[in-house]
Amino acid sequence: MTLEERARRLRLLAGAAAKAAACRLCAIGSQRRNNVYGEGDPCARLMIVGEGPGETEDLLGRPFVGRAGQLLERMLAAIDLAREDVYICNTVKCRPTSPGPRGPKNRAPDPAEMANCRPYLDEQIDIIRPGAILALGAPAAKSFLGNEFAIGKMRGTWYEGPLGIPLIATYHPAYLLRQTGGELEGVKRLVWSDLKAVRTKLAELSEPPLPGPPEQVGLF
Ligand code: SF4
Repeated sequence: MTLEERARRLRLLAGAAAKAAACRLCAIGSQRRNNVYGEGDPCARLMIVGEGPGETEDLLGRPFVGRAGQLLERMLAAIDLAREDVYICNTVKCRPTSPGPRGPKNRAPDPAEMANCRPYLDEQIDIIRPGAILALGAPAAKSFLGNEFAIGKMRGTWYEGPLGIPLIATYHPAYLLRQTGGELEGVKRLVWSDLKAVRTKLAELSEPPLPGPPEQVGLF
């Protein structure tokens, strides 16, 4: 990728992020502290799409910077990727919340919010043109693959995503953080298998070829 192309993409992303920052199409657009557009390598081979910003992300204006983000970074490191190597964003750019006894609490984005925000996500994908997309969690996977998508049965398989880009889904790191004991080990094993599939896909796409995934289990 030439420096000129990298600069062109950065310019396009900055313009798109400015549009998203001014957006108030959904009610959550007026409730959020920061618009969390996305960040990472504009020439990334892998784009990671989660469901929506949480409290820490809303506070800092960056995606995946809370506990789930720290786990995501360990997951990426397990397949030899740094956070800076990928592009990370969400299906919605504003934090979805519902009222709670101690203030607003996180919730999954609703279908109308995801539909409203979809043009921003599509624009990001169109600018970055990643080699593969990793959807984290059922809401993100459903936003690409339809409401019938069942993460337990359909994760770990490659599908045709936007612009024909290969897309795979796995469990959201926040879901792993809610598991304990044997259930946690079981889910980690499945996520590890999905991460290895991502690494293999990136190796296939790479010129010159990257090495395949390492064999260890439980690196994150
Ligand atoms: S979630 Fe997306 S569409 Fe809705 S207000 Fe925020 S930026 Fe706009």
